Amino acid sequence: MNNLQLGGRSVKDDFPNLSQHNNHMARFLTLEMYNKLREHCTPNGFTIDDVIQTGVDNPGHPYIMTVGCVAGDEESYEVFKDLMDLVIQDRHGGYSPTDMHKTDLTPENLQVWQHFCVDDVDVEIYKIFLVLKGGDDLDDNYVLSSRVRTGRSIRGYCLPPHCSRGERRAVERLSVEALDSLTGDLQGKYYALKNMTEEEQQQLIDDHLLFDKPVSPLLLASGMARDWPDGRGIWHNDNKTFLVWVNEEDHLRVISMQKGGNMKEVFTRFCTGLTELESLFKEKGEAFMWNEHLGYILTCPSNLGTGLRAGVHVKLPIMGKHPDFEDILKKLRLQKRGTGGVDTDAVDGVFDISNADRLGFSEVELVQSVVNGVKVLVEMEKRLEIGEPIDNLMPSAQW
Ligand code: ADP
Ligand code: MG
Repeated sequence: MNNLQLGGRSVKDDFPNLSQHNNHMARFLTLEMYNKLREHCTPNGFTIDDVIQTGVDNPGHPYIMTVGCVAGDEESYEVFKDLMDLVIQDRHGGYSPTDMHKTDLTPENLQVWQHFCVDDVDVEIYKIFLVLKGGDDLDDNYVLSSRVRTGRSIRGYCLPPHCSRGERRAVERLSVEALDSLTGDLQGKYYALKNMTEEEQQQLIDDHLLFDKPVSPLLLASGMARDWPDGRGIWHNDNKTFLVWVNEEDHLRVISMQKGGNMKEVFTRFCTGLTELESLFKEKGEAFMWNEHLGYILTCPSNLGTGLRAGVHVKLPIMGKHPDFEDILKKLRLQKRGTGGVDTDAVDGVFDISNADRLGFSEVELVQSVVNGVKVLVEMEKRLEIGEPIDNLMPSAQW
């Protein structure tokens, strides 16, 4: 609802019924807060009703807590701070409004000499991603593929829930121009959704390279799927190991992936590609949305900070049925999905296991936590295969 439409009605007339809801937004939105926030909108006209619509229309699952709100532009997080701060705190492990996020991916940081302690020896390391320990040796017999993705938003343009057709097309144009300047291993081509056949599109989805069609009610209710497929597409390098999705849930989703368990190689390509891409945008006078508190600004509050999801498709047929599986994942700060994407279930014991955190940890820390955690899970699977106990591999709460 536009705040010009209030028309003197009482707040109770407009307050949504959230009694059946299980999402972070519904947990915190009070009548009093709604009353205050509906008087405001961002400079682009995004209102509190636009923020919460997806969470109102999708009550969520009794056991799966969804976020329940989105940003329509960079200012949404500030204008609707009263709600957003509580959602962020709840979703990101107590991250408070005064906390500062650390980003480790700016080119300057990548070139700084840093001190790290490896096996009790203090060493200086040149590039941050080189400190990722043991990320190149995840067992290929279990780890089928490794992937790191993040999102980026271009400052000055509304986010997918609120952008106009023209803005969306401008984001696409700018992105393709920048991406077309990538060279070497990163050189590739853009494929607009509207120019693809149904079969080509489905093949890319089946190969896990492309986002799904906008069937998710979460996506539909947030407004992100308007005008589909206009302005959407996928750019990828020749061997499909560096991919960029344009105008799905975020302006850009940047992905590095390959078969097998060499997460270090995947992360290295991710850092190089992302850094080059940011420089290309800078050369055009464009910046990514970012601030010291929230890190990179993305559409869903769950993706703030690094926006990073490092994950593997991993075979855990026995572990996946273990009564403590959920608890172990929680302690390892990992989350599970099915291999078809966020709303799918595991098939034949193959899971998508990735970091649960995004904000308050650096990119390197998050990837490291996935590497460490997946190693533990694979070791557990191997022990269970031969009927051995896994008690001494159980992570502590402080992992
Ligand atoms: P995202 O968080 O990147 O949006 P989704 O869960 O929506 O991820 O999945 C998007 C697509 O990426 C799906 O086709 C999924 O199978 C694929 N995918 C995710 N992780 C991996 C992985 N480790 N290996 C191969 N494909 C993956
Ligand atoms: Mg997704």
